[in-house]
Amino acid sequence: IKIKITNIDIPVAFASAFEGEIIRRKDMQVEFDGSRVDCAELVHTCDASEVEDHKITVVGPEVDEMEEGSKNSIAYVVKVAGKNMQPDFEPVIERKFHNYINCIEGVYHTGQRDMQRIRISHAAYDAGFRIKHIGEVLYSQVKNEFDAVVDKCEVVIYTDPAECTRIRHEVAIPIFEKRDDRLANLTDESVDVYYSCILCQAFSPSHVCVVTPERLGLCGAVSWLDAKATNELDPNGPCQVITKERPINEELGSYEDVDEAVQKFSQGALEHVTLYSIMQDPMTSCGCFECICGIEPFSNGVVIANREYAGMTPLGMTFSEMASMTGGGVQTPGFMGHGKHFIASKKFMKAEGGIERIVWMPKELKEFIADRLNATAKELYGIDNFTDMIGDETVATDPEALVEFLTEKGHPALGLDPMM
Ligand code: SF4
Ligand code: ZN
Repeated sequence: IKIKITNIDIPVAFASAFEGEIIRRKDMQVEFDGSRVDCAELVHTCDASEVEDHKITVVGPEVDEMEEGSKNSIAYVVKVAGKNMQPDFEPVIERKFHNYINCIEGVYHTGQRDMQRIRISHAAYDAGFRIKHIGEVLYSQVKNEFDAVVDKCEVVIYTDPAECTRIRHEVAIPIFEKRDDRLANLTDESVDVYYSCILCQAFSPSHVCVVTPERLGLCGAVSWLDAKATNELDPNGPCQVITKERPINEELGSYEDVDEAVQKFSQGALEHVTLYSIMQDPMTSCGCFECICGIEPFSNGVVIANREYAGMTPLGMTFSEMASMTGGGVQTPGFMGHGKHFIASKKFMKAEGGIERIVWMPKELKEFIADRLNATAKELYGIDNFTDMIGDETVATDPEALVEFLTEKGHPALGLDPMM
């Protein structure tokens, strides 16, 4: 980890020492929460004439005008220009915002894309920290770390709720979807290398994500293309090439090369990791998973919960309760953090039979992934409208009601071997 102390014009300290700092509810002045209100973080490549270097604009209320302890919207658009800048680098720069904002003393950040969450502490607020200083930090760090590609940088931060809704739905989501679509034609077999990502080791020191075309990072913000671009931008940085020349078991997705890489990047904490199994040497989870999948023994299947879902699952646990069993960079067979898009992947739990094990998901997540998931189910098993067979909170939040629903629908998991 690079220890970098930078002089940025803000009223609190900025250093990697503050990266792991957590701000409890009672210590917070205000909070921004993409899982409850409209938020977004975005890097946007512009023409040099459209960017005024070091201009920082706040559109909407400042922290002073927000009620103490309240949950608010925030969307920041970092406009960059540079002759070596490529749109491929946008998600790489975006993914660093997590790290930049966390280095601010008294400010905490998790999540990414339109799901970030930020807390500003009473102490930071009392010291004079305001929204505009987030812009100051983003500006300085982007200029500082991406000087090879960014010549000019301007930051616009929206806190006006209507503007945040507009930015999220009309600007950010279409861009995120376009990025995700570019991956659609790539498979794990069609590429020669995978990539590691260790950006999250500040919080989870032994955590390593192995990013492949069909399995994006569990945060949902690092695809194989993003990891590749990260490696191009910074060959000694968080994403390293992992060769895949020595397969051990292709069903499990185990490789000697992958094992050696995770051993090295976890400083020996991990020995074996499979790409396609939730039971045998599953990939570790830090804390930023978009979703968690856990085994549901009564149906031989798995339940998936996403971060936005605050209710109960048929496992008798909420998302937060599942998260407390899954995070921290350790392997927990039977539980696994993953990105939303991994759900529709042909490699999702391939070793245990694949997506036909999915028996329950919150309705909203099911609707989000339906088109892709149904297409995969049709291709793999010839099943039409597979999502209609998957339970959600409107039909069951306990195992008995779930099994009854699955039986009625003829869900294929009921006929599979138990997972343990
Ligand atoms: Fe990288 Fe994984 Fe962290 Fe995403 S969750 S930033 S892929 S280490
Ligand atoms: Zn993480």
